[in-house]
Amino acid sequence: MELKLNNQEIKKVESLNSVLSKLKQVVSAKKLKTSKQREDILSLIYNSKVHLNSEEIAAIMKKNNKDSSISSVYRILQFLETYGFVTSIDVDKNGKRYEIAAKEHHYHIICLGCGKITEFIDDEIKDKQLQIAHSLQCQLVSDNLRLFVVCNKCQKEQKIY
Ligand SMILES: [Zn+2]
Ligand SMILES: [Zn+2]
Repeated sequence: MELKLNNQEIKKVESLNSVLSKLKQVVSAKKLKTSKQREDILSLIYNSKVHLNSEEIAAIMKKNNKDSSISSVYRILQFLETYGFVTSIDVDKNGKRYEIAAKEHHYHIICLGCGKITEFIDDEIKDKQLQIAHSLQCQLVSDNLRLFVVCNKCQKEQKIY
């Protein structure tokens, strides 16, 4: 069984340059104006070690460019998700957190106390899912596994749910 529990070990399957050039292709195919902000947000999500939410992304963008507005950030995030550049996970009532789509397939463990997200890969789970789908004569298209936990630190601080 292969279990990787370190965020940094989930490999990206594509370089930032390649992701950005795909963005350029979509933008020109859709006859949209190129936007520095769109590219910056995609780069930010690519390089981030954590799963940022839209408010955090907007705050970082604002720091670099005073003209950046939260509504434009929302619009761009929606665009990037629609065209498969980023994916989001619903963590809690605070909404979606984003990550780059060009990452090795992995699962998430989410702490209900502090919101910490840990990523992991487990080949046995992957095989089991395929087995289940095949046993029902189905083809597995995608999956989305989230484990909601109280992490060790939150247990010690008695943030028990
Ligand atoms: Zn926690
Ligand atoms: Zn992830």
